[in-house]
Amino acid sequence: MLEADRATGTGPSVVWFRDDLRLADHPALHEALVRGAPIVAVFVLDEESPGVRPLGGASRWWLHNSLRALTSSLADLGVPLVLRRGPAEAIITEVAAATAASAVYWNRRYGGAERDLDTRIKAELRNTGVAAHSFAGSLLFEPWTIQTGQGKPYSVFTPFWRACLAAPLPRDPYPAPTGLDAWPGDLPSDDLQAWTLEPTRPDWAEGLRATWRPGEASAHTRLAEFLQDRLPRYADDRDLPAEDATSGLSPHLRWGEISPYQVWHATRRASESLTGSAAKGAVRFLTELGWREFSYHVLFHAPNLASHNWKPDFDAFPWQPLDEQALHAWQQGRTGFALVDAGMRELWRTGTMHNRVRMVTASFLTKNLLIDWREGERWFWDTLVDADPASNPASWQWVAGSGADAAPYFRIFNPELQFAKFDPHQSYVRANVPEWGTDAYPTPIVDLGETRRAALAAYETVKAAK
Ligand code: FAD
Repeated sequence: MLEADRATGTGPSVVWFRDDLRLADHPALHEALVRGAPIVAVFVLDEESPGVRPLGGASRWWLHNSLRALTSSLADLGVPLVLRRGPAEAIITEVAAATAASAVYWNRRYGGAERDLDTRIKAELRNTGVAAHSFAGSLLFEPWTIQTGQGKPYSVFTPFWRACLAAPLPRDPYPAPTGLDAWPGDLPSDDLQAWTLEPTRPDWAEGLRATWRPGEASAHTRLAEFLQDRLPRYADDRDLPAEDATSGLSPHLRWGEISPYQVWHATRRASESLTGSAAKGAVRFLTELGWREFSYHVLFHAPNLASHNWKPDFDAFPWQPLDEQALHAWQQGRTGFALVDAGMRELWRTGTMHNRVRMVTASFLTKNLLIDWREGERWFWDTLVDADPASNPASWQWVAGSGADAAPYFRIFNPELQFAKFDPHQSYVRANVPEWGTDAYPTPIVDLGETRRAALAAYETVKAAK
């Protein structure tokens, strides 16, 4: 009976959820529905496939909660979310075989190891007579669709984004399904709690719980509130960490609880009634989404982005031998530089950090402490709820000078001037570093002038290697 189902193509459709933990605007789910067969929904926690980067602690916390939300929305439509842990290749082919599926559907990922894995799975499924269909769900402009006039990848953001805006505009989002036909069989599924994605001993996630509500519904609430209250002043206030001026959508986008198509079209609609600087806010906001697209463009063409300098000249950069004490002072927000410490403590407490402060803290680590950007990237990977395989390494390399479209090396952020300019009422620093300004606050661990000169001297080595 099962074999017959498969041969005639009437078996169920497996929808493999990955970085797209939502129901609305989910092209894979949408296409599976169009096909009309019963649905099997599956998520695989893959910590074993070669090259797939293990998730950091904050990401694991987010994933746990996001999977709970997705399980509940699927259950409302009568479909169980099957949870399995292990190498995705073995599990997806096994699920397809156990359900006698005719087809497997997923939305594409863009990291090197993930693409290799998906290619292998696609081939294996097809070999066994199961169709495999993949779709664009996480990027507005897939990396290979945007090229320079010479057919090369872009390495500078502005022409990249101009080319994107000249390309066919992103399609409209697909609606959320109102009903699903569940596959009636029974598949074993893991207990989410048993995956221990949430920390217990110690439970350091209190600040994360107080700050965030993972899941598709809350992503949409956040977008709606942002568009209504903050979009008009986004261009003016987005650089001020004390203001709640940005969208806070990054972890929701990272886990695909909302798609960039939904954000793009909702922003365009909201901007229709805006003029002057408010209208600029919408353009600026969409440009930031463009930086996300650019980071993926860079990752796609440089899959080793988290471990290798994008500019090979930087292989000659004389990073200092690792000073553990300085690294710890930075991680714990005890450098004696108020804006750096405020950012690092915000990160530890809430799993996020304002973009301006990310740039300042990253510059301080790589240029004032001359610690290799990979150390900082790893710390952010572990502690950010939005830790993203493309945006995190691309941004770190951008600050360090080794990345695509990086700022000129000599533009070294001065954390004191940045503090004066972007937190003029010291509200952000006071909120995150209560003892700032008292004797209990650490004295600066380095001299800014001296370390700036040392960084510029170190950079001479890169110039000489060119
Ligand atoms: P908004 O200002 O509301 O922007 C809207 C969306 O655009 C964001 O949600 C995000 O998806 C995207 N975006 C905004 N700025 C950038 C940017 N510079 N690069 C790429 N995408 C951007 N962003 C991540 O999503 N994950 C990371 O791991 C990450 N690591 C970073 C590390 C460093 C050292 C730096 C300097 C920046 C990093 N960023 C990262 C980019 C940026 O800081 C965050 O996307 C932003 O602070 C998220 O807040 P928001 O959602 O309120 O942003």
